[in-house]
Amino acid sequence: MRALAKLQAGVGLTLTQVDRPAVGHNDVLIRIRKTAICGTDVHIWKWDEWASRTIPVPMHVGHEYVGEIVEIGQEVSGFAIGDRVSGEGHITCGYCRNCRAGRRHLCRNTRGVGVDRPGAFAEYLALPAVNAFKIPDDVSDDLAAIFDPYGNATHTALAFDLVGEDVLITGAGPIGAMAAAIARHVGARNVVITDVNDYRLDLARRLGATRAVNVTRESLPDVMRELRMAEGFDVGLEMSGVPSAFVSMLEQMNHGGRIAMLGIPPAGFGIDWTKVIFKGLEIKGIYGREMFETWYKMVAMLQSGLDLSPIITHHYAADDYRAGFEAMLSGQSGKVILDWTP
Ligand code: NAD
Ligand code: ZN
Repeated sequence: MRALAKLQAGVGLTLTQVDRPAVGHNDVLIRIRKTAICGTDVHIWKWDEWASRTIPVPMHVGHEYVGEIVEIGQEVSGFAIGDRVSGEGHITCGYCRNCRAGRRHLCRNTRGVGVDRPGAFAEYLALPAVNAFKIPDDVSDDLAAIFDPYGNATHTALAFDLVGEDVLITGAGPIGAMAAAIARHVGARNVVITDVNDYRLDLARRLGATRAVNVTRESLPDVMRELRMAEGFDVGLEMSGVPSAFVSMLEQMNHGGRIAMLGIPPAGFGIDWTKVIFKGLEIKGIYGREMFETWYKMVAMLQSGLDLSPIITHHYAADDYRAGFEAMLSGQSGKVILDWTP
């Protein structure tokens, strides 16, 4: 089958032929229709320090996808041939304390599809059936292909009650922009999002941000005055991984504010802890998606009118993957879809 693989340590990926994956007793085999390119795939493309330390070579990558089930392992129930599915990319161990308590997103032995094991940038993906998630007919293939990052946005945005609250999102990448849409959808008052990239700020505005702020030109305190925000933000969603963004968030939070952190800052990054302590801030780390509460909420929000369609900005055939990665590398893109259907 065709697959997009890292064939040797170094920059780029290659469209190549690999064996179709074996289907274990507890697996389903998914024929991939569409995939999306994640920021993680861009790290793998660039072969940065994290990627060279993490990704086995040779291996095909990718973990955002939709497809249909074409084969079912003999122990699997609850799925049928032809079911349209996406899937949770975190493969959990099933035996640690959190897994056994149903808190699989806190598994200490998680392995990643397209990171620690072969991925979805291919014609077929074998996946443990417990990780597959059926997609209702009224959700498009394009949106189903981005359930993984939409799930990051959902898990983070719904970590704290947003109803009537003033929300600050730092980072208007695809995940931050989707979080802005979710925050508005569930009833936040002001949703202010920051970035340094005007293309992405425009995208966040189209997705529903009250105010999209380019921090190279505007100051958050000015914006807060303009919005007549007397005290500070109630909830912060950190979605940039950039230290200065998190520092400004700490500055602008109200006392008793709550922060959900998805963005991954560089190791060893230090802050002024008195901001956390004297303001009584609550900070929660977010990893992946809750299995499968986040997935059910994603479907429910789409079915109750959440419109994420503007986040998908580019479509390419899988053969044109280079153009897809160029769009991602340019910073002038939301989500980029690769189509694997022949
Ligand atoms: P992204 O890199 O596309 O988006 C980050 C955005 O932050 C970019 O648009 C960038 O321009 C912006 N930015 C740069 N400097 C800024 C500043 N000073 N202030 C505000 N914004 C600034 O990433 P993404 O795919 O949207 O993911 C968001 C973050 O979440 C990344 O850090 C990613 O590594 C992380 N992530 C974490 C998990 C998890 O499970 N914890 C999962 C997926 C992604
Ligand atoms: Zn576990």
